[in-house]
Amino acid sequence: MHDTQIKKLIDAEKRRQKNVINLIASENYVSKDVLEALGSELTNKYAEGYSALRYYGGNEIVDQIENLAKTRALTVFSLKPEEWAVNVQPLSGSPANVAVYLALVPQGGKIMGMSLDHGGHLTHGHKVSITGKMWTQVPYGVSKETERIDYDALRELAVREKPAIIVAGFTAYPRVIDWAKFREIADACGAYLMVDLSHTAGLVAGGAYPSPFPYADIVTTTVHKTLRGPRSALIFSKKDTRGLPVKIDKAVFPGMQGGPHLNQIAAVAVALQEDAAPAFKKYAAQVVKNAAALSDELQKLGWRIVSGGTDSHLLLVDVWMAGKGIGGKEASDRLEKAGIIVNKNTIPNDARSPVDPSGIRLGSAAETTRGKKEKDFREIARKIDKILRT
Ligand SMILES: *Cc1c(COP(=O)(O)O)cnc(C)c1O
Repeated sequence: MHDTQIKKLIDAEKRRQKNVINLIASENYVSKDVLEALGSELTNKYAEGYSALRYYGGNEIVDQIENLAKTRALTVFSLKPEEWAVNVQPLSGSPANVAVYLALVPQGGKIMGMSLDHGGHLTHGHKVSITGKMWTQVPYGVSKETERIDYDALRELAVREKPAIIVAGFTAYPRVIDWAKFREIADACGAYLMVDLSHTAGLVAGGAYPSPFPYADIVTTTVHKTLRGPRSALIFSKKDTRGLPVKIDKAVFPGMQGGPHLNQIAAVAVALQEDAAPAFKKYAAQVVKNAAALSDELQKLGWRIVSGGTDSHLLLVDVWMAGKGIGGKEASDRLEKAGIIVNKNTIPNDARSPVDPSGIRLGSAAETTRGKKEKDFREIARKIDKILRT
């Protein structure tokens, strides 16, 4: 690279990534092949539209790439092309979710999503996001006692509010989600069921977490979290008489976006092929085992884990412990100084503020990619305990 300034910074970031213990639940490390596709000449190509329906010439090769990415996206989740369509053009998770609402929810209509401070995502209708300005959020949360979703309360709220769409799938919810219950509730109030699988898609692909596909109308997911691909997103839509795939395609382009990022789509295809390989099943299982080991060891050392544990790659540690511990910001700062990277996070019904909440969120996906096993995660738990103990 001729740009020595940027080259230096890239090298510095590479070193940083090598030297830290990365427990950011939404991060991962992609393969060299994914990087190669991202850094390819495909970035030079404009291809507004969809395969065989483009607004520019010269698409015979990129059409094949986009089609391959779609085929692989269906394959990795064992979906039949007669039953599911997929759009591989969303640039990231947030625009993917906006595209779904644009397709299915009239302006001002109701999006029922988990509130941010209980583990939902900004794009599930939060007021600072476009999704809370163009549409109206009907927020739900977790039960105070169990810190898990209370499906009876959810049903009551849904039937009362009659949202156009219910969003299930979260950014800081460590437990298995009862997808069938969500389906029943959506049917009871006549709403679409959208699953935002961003965090757990890789676990579902690897068979380590229940699949929402038998129950959902729409499934969105980022590709850069547990799926271990480039920053990108996918929107799956059920093929039936409602014409969802056509609505979704129109919402992504021309509704939301212009030309697709074909280097990114090629990298998605590469990642999805890796995700379908037998080694990825082992990886996904290990991710879950490692998170469980981390959670278990922290509990043994006296830390409170939100909901009492985890069924996935992530856990929330209540570091504040009602005043007996330290704030989430201080916890994350102290850990970073010691080379352990986490993010501060609210816990359900947090008594503190989002800028300095009571919790930290830990995830096992990135360090599992680097080969760590349960005993390593128990060791990490002991390190964390030493650093955070007041
Ligand atoms: C990460 C995430 C997103 C947004 O993804 P970006 O690529 O950061 O826009 C949306 N929903 C959920 C549940 C997420 O975890």
